[in-house]
Amino acid sequence: MEQSQASRVTCCIAGCGPAGAMLGLLLARAGVDVLVLEKHGDFLRDFRGDTLHPSTLRLFDELGLADELLDLPHQEATVLGVTTDAGEFTLADFRRLPGRYRFLAFMPQWDFLDFVVGQARRLPSFELRMEAEALGVLEEAGRVTGLTWRDRAGAVHQVRARLTVAADGRDSELRRSARLPRREFGVPVDVLWFRLPRRPTDAPQSFGRLAARHLLVLIDRGAYWQIAYLIPKDAADELHRAGLGRLRASVAELVPFLADRVGELGSWDDVRTLRVQVDRLRRWFRPGLLCIGDAAHAMSPIGGVGINLAVHDAVAAANLLARPLRDGTLATRHLARVQLRRLLPTVVIQLGQRTIQDRFLSPLLAGRVPAKGPLVLRVMRRFPVLQGVPARLVGLGVLPEHVRSPAAEGAPARPYL
Ligand SMILES: Cc1cc2nc3c(=O)[nH]c(=O)nc-3n(C[C@H](O)[C@H](O)[C@H](O)COP(=O)(O)OP(=O)(O)OC[C@H]3O[C@@H](n4cnc5c(N)ncnc54)[C@H](O)[C@@H]3O)c2cc1C
Repeated sequence: MEQSQASRVTCCIAGCGPAGAMLGLLLARAGVDVLVLEKHGDFLRDFRGDTLHPSTLRLFDELGLADELLDLPHQEATVLGVTTDAGEFTLADFRRLPGRYRFLAFMPQWDFLDFVVGQARRLPSFELRMEAEALGVLEEAGRVTGLTWRDRAGAVHQVRARLTVAADGRDSELRRSARLPRREFGVPVDVLWFRLPRRPTDAPQSFGRLAARHLLVLIDRGAYWQIAYLIPKDAADELHRAGLGRLRASVAELVPFLADRVGELGSWDDVRTLRVQVDRLRRWFRPGLLCIGDAAHAMSPIGGVGINLAVHDAVAAANLLARPLRDGTLATRHLARVQLRRLLPTVVIQLGQRTIQDRFLSPLLAGRVPAKGPLVLRVMRRFPVLQGVPARLVGLGVLPEHVRSPAAEGAPARPYL
């Protein structure tokens, strides 16, 4: 294998998902030279996190980019509802939130990433290499000093960096090579993802369908429904053996208006299994290395918080690291502060997700659903003001970040820069 000379950069980020792209944008905006490496040739991967929450939209507002972002095709959900055999319930009402953004925006992740990268590319100190796979960290005397990566032709390169960031997702290669210990939490569910056409006579916006042994989430994506179908952990193989007909029949029974089109699920290739994983690093950093986003903490899909947490990690990292990176004063204590800042939101949300999984999803998949509908939904129906609580937790989260990293001279002018 050919090995080229090492190049040098102030910050090298592995992975151009929501965490890596956003950190790249903010550091470049602060005048830090940054290289982002992305192993794929494009962002066109289906069934990823597509939900932009009010707290994330507010960050783009602070950057003066929210209107441009929301000019891209997207759907807005002001209310999240659940249909049960006992009727319809409201789970979260985002109209009760303060501020300008009182809805969830559903936008394909590739459009979102293209947008962020498009903004970053306007900045002179930003560089993105596609089809560039990070292989592992470089170390000297216990300190991470960069990484090795492979280009599309198979040549291996080295990059030396003052800071290396692992933003390469839940199966992070850099995290593994840096030997950072991880804590895994048991998850009782997996999710099947598929899409079916959406017709004008269908339900007007995204909703959940809950019944004994079943939970479906239908996300309005304009021309089609993106559907999450919960199954017990590791039950995908059994379902495959039972045949696609069983899945089609179940969807048609649970959501009758889809009965006329479940046949469009032609083969298991149309169905993607997400093995749900919830974990967290004990330490998100080592001298010279920081993990953010899913590389630091894989989240359950409950609440659709994954992208938002990843983006907020990036904002916190830029707030705390841009100046020391620019001044050449970066120390390990700065990296520790990023973990300290983001640990509480991560722990609180994971705790909430695990509680919902254990107290609600496990009994549900075992067939235990009260005939009148779950108590919590009935209480929220009785006291609608409570519908603002999940809206706040999901929409604004815990300790939402604000953009405080500086904008270097020469960065394109924006209202809030
Ligand atoms: C099927 C599925 C459905 C989901 N649904 C939702 C949802 O509805 N709502 C929600 O908010 N979240 C959802 N999530 C989670 C959400 O997508 C993630 O939490 C979020 O994308 C995390 O962002 P990230 O940047 O940390 O990691 P990722 O989005 O995983 O990005 C990591 C990037 O690094 C790249 N990469 C990986 N390895 C390397 C390497 N060695 N070298 C270079 N690049 C590399 C990957 O190609 C990718 O582009 C879902 C995830 C999956 C898999």
